[in-house]
Amino acid sequence: MKTKMSLLILFLLFVSNNYAQIHFDDWFEKKSLRIDFALNGNSEYQKAALQQMREEPVWGGPVKNLIDKSYYGGYYVNLYDKTGKQLIYSRGFNTLFEEWRSTEQAKNETQSWTNSISIPFPKKETVLEITGRDRGDMQFHVLLTLNIDPSSIFIDRGKLKENTVIQIQYKGDPSSKIDLVFIAEGYTAGEEKKFETDAKKFTESLFNTPPFDMHRDDFNVWAVGLESEESGTDVSGKGVFKNTALNSGYYTFGLSRYLTTPDMKSIRDAVWNIPCDAIFIVVNTDMYGGGGMYNFYAMGTSDDARTPVVFVHEFGHSFAGLADEYFSSEVAYDDAFFSLKTEPWEPNITTLIDFESKWKDLLPANTPIPTLLEDKYKDKIGVYEGGGYLSKGIYRPMDHCMMRDYAPFCPACSRAILRMIDFLTDRTD
Ligand SMILES: [Zn+2]
Repeated sequence: MKTKMSLLILFLLFVSNNYAQIHFDDWFEKKSLRIDFALNGNSEYQKAALQQMREEPVWGGPVKNLIDKSYYGGYYVNLYDKTGKQLIYSRGFNTLFEEWRSTEQAKNETQSWTNSISIPFPKKETVLEITGRDRGDMQFHVLLTLNIDPSSIFIDRGKLKENTVIQIQYKGDPSSKIDLVFIAEGYTAGEEKKFETDAKKFTESLFNTPPFDMHRDDFNVWAVGLESEESGTDVSGKGVFKNTALNSGYYTFGLSRYLTTPDMKSIRDAVWNIPCDAIFIVVNTDMYGGGGMYNFYAMGTSDDARTPVVFVHEFGHSFAGLADEYFSSEVAYDDAFFSLKTEPWEPNITTLIDFESKWKDLLPANTPIPTLLEDKYKDKIGVYEGGGYLSKGIYRPMDHCMMRDYAPFCPACSRAILRMIDFLTDRTD
Protein backbone atom coordinates (compact mmCIF):
# COMPACT_ATOMS: atom_id res chain seq x y z
CA MET A 1 0.00 0.00 0.00
CA LYS A 2 2.79 2.35 0.98
CA THR A 3 4.63 1.57 -2.26
CA LYS A 4 1.46 2.19 -4.21
CA MET A 5 1.01 5.51 -2.44
CA SER A 6 4.56 6.68 -3.22
CA LEU A 7 4.11 5.55 -6.81
CA LEU A 8 0.96 7.61 -6.98
CA ILE A 9 2.73 10.65 -5.56
CA LEU A 10 5.59 10.19 -8.00
CA PHE A 11 3.08 9.88 -10.84
CA LEU A 12 1.26 13.04 -9.76
CA LEU A 13 4.57 14.90 -9.50
CA PHE A 14 5.46 13.70 -12.98
CA VAL A 15 2.13 14.80 -14.40
CA SER A 16 2.13 18.19 -12.69
CA ASN A 17 5.75 18.80 -13.67
CA ASN A 18 5.09 18.02 -17.31
CA TYR A 19 1.87 19.92 -17.54
CA ALA A 20 2.66 22.84 -15.26
CA GLN A 21 0.68 25.81 -16.51
CA ILE A 22 2.74 27.65 -19.12
CA HIS A 23 2.24 31.40 -18.93
CA PHE A 24 2.03 32.75 -22.45
CA ASP A 25 3.72 36.07 -21.65
CA ASP A 26 6.74 34.33 -20.09
CA TRP A 27 7.51 32.55 -23.32
CA PHE A 28 5.77 34.14 -26.27
CA GLU A 29 4.99 37.36 -28.07
CA LYS A 30 1.56 37.75 -29.63
CA LYS A 31 2.87 37.08 -33.11
CA SER A 32 3.35 33.86 -35.08
CA LEU A 33 6.37 31.89 -36.11
CA ARG A 34 5.50 30.10 -39.32
CA ILE A 35 7.52 27.06 -40.23
CA ASP A 36 7.40 25.72 -43.79
CA PHE A 37 8.88 22.28 -44.11
CA ALA A 38 9.11 19.49 -46.66
CA LEU A 39 7.90 16.00 -45.96
CA ASN A 40 9.37 13.45 -48.30
CA GLY A 41 9.19 9.72 -48.51
CA ASN A 42 6.94 6.91 -49.65
CA SER A 43 4.81 4.16 -48.11
CA GLU A 44 7.83 2.85 -46.22
CA TYR A 45 9.34 5.96 -44.64
CA GLN A 46 9.04 9.73 -44.28
CA LYS A 47 11.55 12.48 -43.47
CA ALA A 48 11.18 16.18 -42.78
CA ALA A 49 13.39 19.16 -43.69
CA LEU A 50 13.09 22.90 -43.00
CA GLN A 51 12.26 25.17 -45.93
CA GLN A 52 11.76 28.58 -44.29
CA MET A 53 10.74 30.35 -41.09
CA ARG A 54 8.69 33.53 -41.06
CA GLU A 55 7.69 36.00 -38.39
CA GLU A 56 4.05 36.93 -38.98
CA PRO A 57 2.22 39.73 -37.16
CA VAL A 58 -0.74 37.99 -35.47
CA TRP A 59 -1.31 35.11 -33.03
CA GLY A 60 -4.98 34.22 -32.81
CA GLY A 61 -4.65 30.79 -31.18
CA PRO A 62 -5.18 29.93 -27.50
CA VAL A 63 -3.00 31.64 -24.89
CA LYS A 64 -3.90 29.29 -22.01
CA ASN A 65 -4.29 25.95 -23.74
CA LEU A 66 -0.74 25.82 -25.07
CA ILE A 67 -0.32 22.06 -24.68
CA ASP A 68 -2.54 19.90 -26.89
CA LYS A 69 -3.46 16.76 -24.98
CA SER A 70 -5.90 15.38 -27.55
CA TYR A 71 -3.21 13.41 -29.42
CA TYR A 72 -5.22 13.79 -32.61
CA GLY A 73 -3.41 13.78 -35.92
CA GLY A 74 -0.60 12.07 -37.76
CA TYR A 75 1.92 14.72 -36.68
CA TYR A 76 2.76 16.88 -33.69
CA VAL A 77 4.74 20.05 -33.36
CA ASN A 78 6.38 20.32 -29.94
CA LEU A 79 8.23 23.37 -28.66
CA TYR A 80 10.57 23.07 -25.66
CA ASP A 81 12.67 25.50 -23.65
CA LYS A 82 16.27 25.64 -24.81
CA THR A 83 17.34 22.73 -22.62
CA GLY A 84 14.78 20.60 -24.46
CA LYS A 85 13.22 19.51 -21.18
CA GLN A 86 10.17 21.69 -20.61
CA LEU A 87 7.39 21.44 -23.14
CA ILE A 88 5.93 24.93 -23.68
CA TYR A 89 3.69 24.44 -26.73
CA SER A 90 2.31 21.51 -28.72
CA ARG A 91 -0.34 20.88 -31.34
CA GLY A 92 -1.39 17.93 -33.49
CA PHE A 93 -2.20 18.11 -37.19
CA ASN A 94 -2.59 16.03 -40.30
CA THR A 95 -1.27 16.43 -43.80
CA LEU A 96 -2.33 15.40 -47.28
CA PHE A 97 1.10 13.80 -47.65
CA GLU A 98 0.15 11.39 -44.85
CA GLU A 99 -2.87 10.27 -46.89
CA TRP A 100 -0.78 9.98 -50.02
CA ARG A 101 1.56 7.60 -48.20
CA SER A 102 -1.23 5.04 -48.03
CA THR A 103 -1.96 5.09 -51.79
CA GLU A 104 -0.74 2.56 -54.33
CA GLN A 105 1.45 5.24 -55.93
CA ALA A 106 3.47 5.63 -52.71
CA LYS A 107 4.57 2.02 -53.02
CA ASN A 108 6.40 2.81 -56.25
CA GLU A 109 7.40 6.48 -55.98
CA THR A 110 9.15 8.80 -53.55
CA GLN A 111 7.78 12.34 -53.37
CA SER A 112 8.38 15.61 -51.51
CA TRP A 113 5.48 17.84 -50.33
CA THR A 114 5.49 21.28 -48.73
CA ASN A 115 3.72 21.73 -45.39
CA SER A 116 3.38 24.66 -43.06
CA ILE A 117 2.50 25.24 -39.43
CA SER A 118 2.26 28.30 -37.22
CA ILE A 119 3.18 28.50 -33.55
CA PRO A 120 3.23 31.45 -31.15
CA PHE A 121 6.42 33.49 -31.60
CA PRO A 122 8.98 32.54 -28.90
CA LYS A 123 10.68 35.29 -26.88
CA LYS A 124 13.68 33.13 -26.04
CA GLU A 125 15.78 30.40 -27.60
CA THR A 126 13.74 27.22 -27.92
CA VAL A 127 13.89 23.76 -29.43
CA LEU A 128 11.28 22.79 -32.00
CA GLU A 129 10.42 19.23 -32.84
CA ILE A 130 8.16 17.84 -35.57
CA THR A 131 7.08 14.28 -34.96
CA GLY A 132 5.19 11.83 -37.16
CA ARG A 133 2.96 9.00 -36.04
CA ASP A 134 3.97 5.50 -37.04
CA ARG A 135 0.99 3.45 -38.23
CA GLY A 136 2.53 0.32 -36.78
CA ASP A 137 2.71 1.37 -33.15
CA MET A 138 0.62 4.61 -33.34
CA GLN A 139 3.44 6.40 -31.47
CA PHE A 140 5.02 9.70 -32.50
CA HIS A 141 8.64 9.62 -33.65
CA VAL A 142 10.89 12.64 -34.19
CA LEU A 143 11.22 13.70 -37.84
CA LEU A 144 12.94 17.07 -37.37
CA THR A 145 14.60 19.00 -34.52
CA LEU A 146 15.49 22.69 -34.81
CA ASN A 147 17.14 25.12 -32.41
CA ILE A 148 15.25 28.37 -32.76
CA ASP A 149 16.83 31.73 -32.02
CA PRO A 150 14.02 34.29 -32.32
CA SER A 151 16.51 37.03 -33.26
CA SER A 152 18.07 35.01 -36.09
CA ILE A 153 18.70 36.72 -39.44
CA PHE A 154 17.42 33.54 -41.08
CA ILE A 155 13.83 34.27 -40.04
CA ASP A 156 12.03 36.13 -42.84
CA ARG A 157 10.20 39.13 -41.37
CA GLY A 158 8.89 40.61 -44.61
CA LYS A 159 5.33 41.51 -45.49
CA LEU A 160 3.37 39.55 -48.07
CA LYS A 161 0.54 40.58 -50.39
CA GLU A 162 -2.29 42.32 -48.56
CA ASN A 163 -5.45 40.64 -49.84
CA THR A 164 -8.94 42.01 -49.33
CA VAL A 165 -10.20 40.68 -45.98
CA ILE A 166 -13.90 40.78 -45.17
CA GLN A 167 -15.02 40.41 -41.57
CA ILE A 168 -18.16 38.25 -41.74
CA GLN A 169 -18.64 38.22 -37.99
CA TYR A 170 -16.52 39.47 -35.10
CA LYS A 171 -17.37 38.24 -31.60
CA GLY A 172 -14.24 39.25 -29.67
CA ASP A 173 -10.53 38.86 -28.96
CA PRO A 174 -9.11 36.25 -31.40
CA SER A 175 -7.27 34.48 -28.55
CA SER A 176 -10.51 33.49 -26.87
CA LYS A 177 -12.48 32.99 -30.10
CA ILE A 178 -12.10 30.52 -32.94
CA ASP A 179 -11.01 32.38 -36.04
CA LEU A 180 -12.53 30.63 -39.05
CA VAL A 181 -11.05 31.91 -42.30
CA PHE A 182 -12.62 31.36 -45.73
CA ILE A 183 -10.19 31.69 -48.64
CA ALA A 184 -11.33 32.28 -52.22
CA GLU A 185 -10.01 29.83 -54.81
CA GLY A 186 -10.81 30.09 -58.52
CA TYR A 187 -12.54 33.48 -58.17
CA THR A 188 -11.32 36.12 -60.64
CA ALA A 189 -11.20 39.90 -60.27
CA GLY A 190 -14.85 40.87 -60.60
CA GLU A 191 -16.11 37.83 -58.67
CA GLU A 192 -15.45 39.34 -55.21
CA LYS A 193 -19.15 39.79 -54.47
CA LYS A 194 -19.89 36.20 -55.37
CA PHE A 195 -17.17 35.02 -52.99
CA GLU A 196 -18.57 37.16 -50.17
CA THR A 197 -22.06 35.75 -50.79
CA ASP A 198 -20.69 32.18 -50.87
CA ALA A 199 -18.68 32.64 -47.64
CA LYS A 200 -21.79 34.00 -45.90
CA LYS A 201 -23.83 31.04 -47.17
CA PHE A 202 -21.36 28.60 -45.61
CA THR A 203 -21.27 30.60 -42.38
CA GLU A 204 -25.06 30.26 -42.06
CA SER A 205 -24.90 26.57 -42.96
CA LEU A 206 -22.37 25.93 -40.18
CA PHE A 207 -24.28 27.84 -37.52
CA ASN A 208 -27.57 26.17 -38.45
CA THR A 209 -26.00 22.76 -37.69
CA PRO A 210 -25.94 21.35 -34.14
CA PRO A 211 -23.76 21.53 -32.10
CA PHE A 212 -22.27 24.61 -33.84
CA ASP A 213 -25.66 26.36 -33.63
CA MET A 214 -25.24 26.88 -29.87
CA HIS A 215 -21.71 28.26 -30.28
CA ARG A 216 -21.95 30.98 -32.89
CA ASP A 217 -20.57 33.51 -30.39
CA ASP A 218 -17.37 31.48 -30.04
CA PHE A 219 -16.37 32.19 -33.63
CA ASN A 220 -14.93 35.11 -35.55
CA VAL A 221 -15.38 34.57 -39.27
CA TRP A 222 -13.14 36.13 -41.94
CA ALA A 223 -13.05 35.87 -45.72
CA VAL A 224 -9.86 36.41 -47.74
CA GLY A 225 -10.63 37.53 -51.28
CA LEU A 226 -7.67 35.88 -52.97
CA GLU A 227 -7.75 36.58 -56.69
CA SER A 228 -7.22 33.90 -59.36
CA GLU A 229 -6.39 34.39 -63.03
CA GLU A 230 -9.13 31.99 -64.07
CA SER A 231 -12.47 30.79 -62.66
CA GLY A 232 -12.95 27.22 -61.45
CA THR A 233 -10.41 24.53 -60.64
CA ASP A 234 -8.47 21.69 -62.28
CA VAL A 235 -10.32 18.56 -63.33
CA SER A 236 -7.22 16.71 -64.44
CA GLY A 237 -9.04 13.45 -65.22
CA LYS A 238 -10.99 15.34 -67.89
CA GLY A 239 -8.07 17.41 -69.18
CA VAL A 240 -9.25 20.68 -67.54
CA PHE A 241 -6.51 22.86 -66.04
CA LYS A 242 -7.11 26.34 -64.59
CA ASN A 243 -4.64 28.95 -63.41
CA THR A 244 -5.83 29.51 -59.84
CA ALA A 245 -4.26 31.03 -56.74
CA LEU A 246 -4.10 27.84 -54.66
CA ASN A 247 -3.58 25.21 -57.38
CA SER A 248 -6.57 23.12 -56.33
CA GLY A 249 -7.99 20.24 -58.27
CA TYR A 250 -10.22 17.18 -58.40
CA TYR A 251 -8.80 13.70 -58.99
CA THR A 252 -6.58 13.81 -55.88
CA PHE A 253 -4.99 10.36 -55.76
CA GLY A 254 -7.03 9.60 -58.92
CA LEU A 255 -10.46 10.06 -57.27
CA SER A 256 -12.82 12.20 -59.37
CA ARG A 257 -14.63 13.83 -56.40
CA TYR A 258 -11.62 14.32 -54.13
CA LEU A 259 -10.84 18.04 -54.31
CA THR A 260 -7.66 19.28 -52.57
CA THR A 261 -4.49 21.26 -53.06
CA PRO A 262 -0.95 20.27 -52.05
CA ASP A 263 0.06 23.96 -52.03
CA MET A 264 0.24 24.74 -48.31
CA LYS A 265 2.70 27.59 -48.85
CA SER A 266 0.19 29.59 -50.93
CA ILE A 267 -2.53 28.91 -48.34
CA ARG A 268 -0.36 30.22 -45.49
CA ASP A 269 0.70 33.21 -47.61
CA ALA A 270 -2.99 34.09 -47.96
CA VAL A 271 -3.61 34.24 -44.19
CA TRP A 272 -0.26 35.74 -43.08
CA ASN A 273 -1.76 38.87 -41.52
CA ILE A 274 -5.01 37.66 -39.92
CA PRO A 275 -5.83 35.44 -36.93
CA CYS A 276 -6.48 31.90 -38.13
CA ASP A 277 -7.54 28.79 -36.20
CA ALA A 278 -9.36 27.00 -39.03
CA ILE A 279 -9.13 27.36 -42.81
CA PHE A 280 -11.94 26.67 -45.25
CA ILE A 281 -11.14 27.06 -48.95
CA VAL A 282 -14.15 27.82 -51.14
CA VAL A 283 -13.62 26.64 -54.71
CA ASN A 284 -15.62 28.48 -57.34
CA THR A 285 -17.29 25.61 -59.22
CA ASP A 286 -20.62 23.79 -59.32
CA MET A 287 -19.16 20.28 -59.22
CA TYR A 288 -19.65 17.94 -56.24
CA GLY A 289 -16.58 17.30 -54.13
CA GLY A 290 -14.35 18.37 -51.30
CA GLY A 291 -11.74 17.33 -48.78
CA GLY A 292 -10.65 18.04 -45.22
CA MET A 293 -7.70 17.11 -43.01
CA TYR A 294 -7.38 17.71 -39.29
CA ASN A 295 -5.91 21.12 -38.38
CA PHE A 296 -4.75 21.57 -41.99
CA TYR A 297 -7.65 22.85 -44.08
CA ALA A 298 -11.06 21.93 -45.46
CA MET A 299 -12.16 22.53 -49.02
CA GLY A 300 -15.57 22.61 -50.67
CA THR A 301 -17.26 23.96 -53.78
CA SER A 302 -19.47 27.01 -54.08
CA ASP A 303 -22.41 25.93 -56.19
CA ASP A 304 -23.32 22.24 -56.04
CA ALA A 305 -26.74 21.58 -54.47
CA ARG A 306 -25.15 19.58 -51.64
CA THR A 307 -22.51 22.25 -51.02
CA PRO A 308 -23.74 23.47 -47.60
CA VAL A 309 -23.71 20.01 -46.00
CA VAL A 310 -20.50 18.95 -47.75
CA PHE A 311 -18.93 22.00 -46.13
CA VAL A 312 -20.04 20.93 -42.65
CA HIS A 313 -18.81 17.36 -43.27
CA GLU A 314 -15.37 18.50 -44.44
CA PHE A 315 -15.19 20.95 -41.56
CA GLY A 316 -15.83 17.97 -39.23
CA HIS A 317 -12.56 16.48 -40.52
CA SER A 318 -10.45 19.60 -40.38
CA PHE A 319 -11.83 21.14 -37.19
CA ALA A 320 -12.47 18.18 -34.89
CA GLY A 321 -10.37 15.37 -36.37
CA LEU A 322 -13.45 13.29 -37.24
CA ALA A 323 -13.02 10.23 -39.46
CA ASP A 324 -15.33 9.29 -42.30
CA GLU A 325 -17.95 6.91 -40.97
CA TYR A 326 -18.82 5.57 -44.44
CA PHE A 327 -17.44 2.37 -45.81
CA SER A 328 -19.03 1.67 -49.16
CA SER A 329 -17.60 4.44 -51.36
CA GLU A 330 -14.59 4.25 -53.61
CA VAL A 331 -11.39 5.39 -51.90
CA ALA A 332 -7.81 5.48 -53.04
CA TYR A 333 -6.27 4.09 -49.90
CA ASP A 334 -5.06 0.57 -49.52
CA ASP A 335 -6.14 -1.55 -46.54
CA ALA A 336 -3.48 0.08 -44.40
CA PHE A 337 -5.22 3.45 -44.01
CA PHE A 338 -6.71 2.30 -40.71
CA SER A 339 -4.92 -0.61 -39.13
CA LEU A 340 -7.17 -3.17 -37.44
CA LYS A 341 -4.31 -4.03 -35.08
CA THR A 342 -4.35 -0.66 -33.33
CA GLU A 343 -6.93 1.84 -32.07
CA PRO A 344 -7.28 4.74 -34.51
CA TRP A 345 -6.80 8.22 -33.01
CA GLU A 346 -9.99 9.65 -34.52
CA PRO A 347 -12.69 10.10 -31.86
CA ASN A 348 -15.63 8.68 -33.87
CA ILE A 349 -14.37 5.27 -35.01
CA THR A 350 -12.99 2.32 -33.07
CA THR A 351 -11.40 -1.05 -33.73
CA LEU A 352 -12.53 -2.01 -30.16
CA ILE A 353 -8.87 -2.36 -29.16
CA ASP A 354 -9.21 0.61 -26.80
CA PHE A 355 -12.92 1.41 -26.85
CA GLU A 356 -12.69 2.84 -23.31
CA SER A 357 -10.91 5.83 -24.83
CA LYS A 358 -13.80 6.48 -27.23
CA TRP A 359 -17.58 6.84 -26.69
CA LYS A 360 -18.18 3.88 -24.36
CA ASP A 361 -19.34 6.28 -21.61
CA LEU A 362 -22.05 7.61 -23.92
CA LEU A 363 -23.73 4.20 -24.44
CA PRO A 364 -27.07 3.56 -22.70
CA ALA A 365 -26.92 0.75 -20.12
CA ASN A 366 -26.99 -2.78 -21.57
CA THR A 367 -26.05 -1.72 -25.08
CA PRO A 368 -24.37 -4.75 -26.67
CA ILE A 369 -20.85 -4.20 -28.04
CA PRO A 370 -20.86 -4.47 -31.01
CA THR A 371 -24.46 -3.42 -31.62
CA LEU A 372 -26.60 -4.98 -34.34
CA LEU A 373 -28.75 -2.74 -36.52
CA GLU A 374 -32.04 -3.91 -35.01
CA ASP A 375 -35.17 -1.81 -34.58
CA LYS A 376 -34.69 -1.35 -30.84
CA TYR A 377 -31.25 0.22 -31.33
CA LYS A 378 -32.12 2.17 -34.43
CA ASP A 379 -31.26 5.88 -34.12
CA LYS A 380 -29.52 5.20 -30.81
CA ILE A 381 -25.82 5.48 -30.05
CA GLY A 382 -24.13 2.08 -30.17
CA VAL A 383 -21.15 0.38 -31.76
CA TYR A 384 -22.09 -0.46 -35.35
CA GLU A 385 -19.78 -2.34 -37.66
CA GLY A 386 -18.57 -0.42 -40.73
CA GLY A 387 -16.74 2.87 -40.86
CA GLY A 388 -13.40 4.40 -41.86
CA TYR A 389 -13.72 2.94 -45.41
CA LEU A 390 -13.97 -0.64 -44.09
CA SER A 391 -17.15 -2.69 -43.73
CA LYS A 392 -15.52 -5.09 -41.26
CA GLY A 393 -13.40 -4.52 -38.16
CA ILE A 394 -14.06 -0.78 -37.70
CA TYR A 395 -17.11 0.47 -35.80
CA ARG A 396 -19.05 3.75 -35.88
CA PRO A 397 -21.22 5.34 -33.16
CA MET A 398 -24.54 5.58 -35.03
CA ASP A 399 -26.00 4.24 -38.22
CA HIS A 400 -26.28 7.72 -39.70
CA CYS A 401 -24.15 10.79 -39.05
CA MET A 402 -22.83 13.87 -40.84
CA MET A 403 -19.57 11.95 -41.24
CA ARG A 404 -21.34 9.14 -43.10
CA ASP A 405 -24.25 10.51 -45.08
CA TYR A 406 -24.85 14.15 -44.06
CA ALA A 407 -27.34 13.25 -41.28
CA PRO A 408 -27.02 15.26 -38.02
CA PHE A 409 -23.74 14.72 -36.15
CA CYS A 410 -23.91 11.64 -33.88
CA PRO A 411 -23.28 12.14 -30.12
CA ALA A 412 -19.62 11.01 -30.35
CA CYS A 413 -18.90 13.50 -33.13
CA SER A 414 -20.82 16.27 -31.32
CA ARG A 415 -18.79 15.75 -28.16
CA ALA A 416 -15.50 15.89 -30.11
CA ILE A 417 -16.62 19.17 -31.71
CA LEU A 418 -17.58 20.66 -28.34
CA ARG A 419 -14.25 19.64 -26.81
CA MET A 420 -12.39 21.31 -29.67
CA ILE A 421 -14.45 24.49 -29.25
CA ASP A 422 -13.55 24.52 -25.54
CA PHE A 423 -9.87 23.93 -26.28
CA LEU A 424 -9.58 26.68 -28.89
CA THR A 425 -11.52 29.22 -26.82
CA ASP A 426 -9.31 28.59 -23.78
CA ARG A 427 -12.25 27.37 -21.66
CA THR A 428 -10.49 24.20 -20.52
CA ASP A 429 -6.91 23.12 -20.24
ZN1 LIG B 1 -20.46 10.65 -36.07
